[in-house]
Amino acid sequence: MPELLLGVLAIQGGFEAHLRMLRSLGAEVREVRSPGDLEGLDGLVIPGGESTTISMGIESGGLAEPIRALRRSGGTIFGTCAGMIVCDDAHLGLIDATAARNAFGRQLQSFEADLAVEGLGDEALRGVFIRAPWIERHGPGVEVLASHEGRPVAVREGGVLACAFHPELTDDPRLHALFMAMTTSARERVVSEGDFR
Ligand code: GLN
Repeated sequence: MPELLLGVLAIQGGFEAHLRMLRSLGAEVREVRSPGDLEGLDGLVIPGGESTTISMGIESGGLAEPIRALRRSGGTIFGTCAGMIVCDDAHLGLIDATAARNAFGRQLQSFEADLAVEGLGDEALRGVFIRAPWIERHGPGVEVLASHEGRPVAVREGGVLACAFHPELTDDPRLHALFMAMTTSARERVVSEGDFR
């Protein structure tokens, strides 16, 4: 099978570090700014930044419906920090969860914490939190992969992965590797279902 083709939404925020990390893991990558850029993607990363700016860019660029369509057709989504907010049910509605913005407090603008993440083995993942949200509410289909101070900060529902911190700002690629593994198995599923159509 050809390598994965992954897009990174490049409207605003920290998209370049995601591109580098995905490339270093062997994916082919593409910056996404318009609906045409989504064509043929296996998955899409929505990076951190400012969720209001990214949401406005999605609306004005006519990207909301094409992103939902990518998801419906089996494409995966990985939202980080502001990207997690953009995925929630008050925005794109890609995950049955509601994020609370700047939830760890404006005073404490940023911090780092070691996280135990389900599925990533025994070694803690260093979470870089920058004016980070947390998950305030989620439906029964949402798996909590990691929590900090009792608040969900990494979650997954089907082909959607979201985290409150910035895994692209460390040199630990395990969460991106998990996203790529999810994407590979989602693609295999689409292909095998296609055989029976
Ligand atoms: N506080 C930002 C927001 O609510 C998110 C910060 C980030 O992505 N690092 O949009």
